[in-house]
Amino acid sequence: MQKEDCIFCKIAKGEIPSTTVYENEDFRVIFDIAPASKGHTLIIPKQHYADIFDMDAQIGGRLFSLATAVAKSLKKELNCEGMNIVQNNGLIAGQTVFHFHLHLIPRYTGDTVNIKWNPGEANQEELKELASIVGKNI
Ligand code: 5GP
Ligand code: ZN
Repeated sequence: MQKEDCIFCKIAKGEIPSTTVYENEDFRVIFDIAPASKGHTLIIPKQHYADIFDMDAQIGGRLFSLATAVAKSLKKELNCEGMNIVQNNGLIAGQTVFHFHLHLIPRYTGDTVNIKWNPGEANQEELKELASIVGKNI
């Protein structure tokens, strides 16, 4: 279902132009308008999901199947040395467009992409307890 005033609903459905790399029944694959690096690509579901918490697992599976093919084509054609695959959920996580999208960011020596966090410290007991709690819902 299309959400009114959602820019990615309009882009996904072709109502707003975008540089489309590929599309099928479920997704549109476009180049980011403000690329972090050459070939920065977005995979956008045609149906509106605000974020991953809103999305069903079946479409998630199809999304990653497509992402695998897109990643390989970007690598082959752009000769990138690596790639970050990023997906932001929520304002706190840096999401700015609240229609689910997967970023594929090709990486090159000397590029200016910065995706880093500070490594923390883990308590093994806490990790075990957390694993059993979280694992229950999956
Ligand atoms: P987020 O921060 O939500 O994970 O990423 C949103 C991304 O969408 C940004 O990288 C931004 O450059 C891109 N973007 C926003 N508006 C448009 C648009 O109208 N067209 C395209 N192609 N990309 C957009
Ligand atoms: Zn939308």
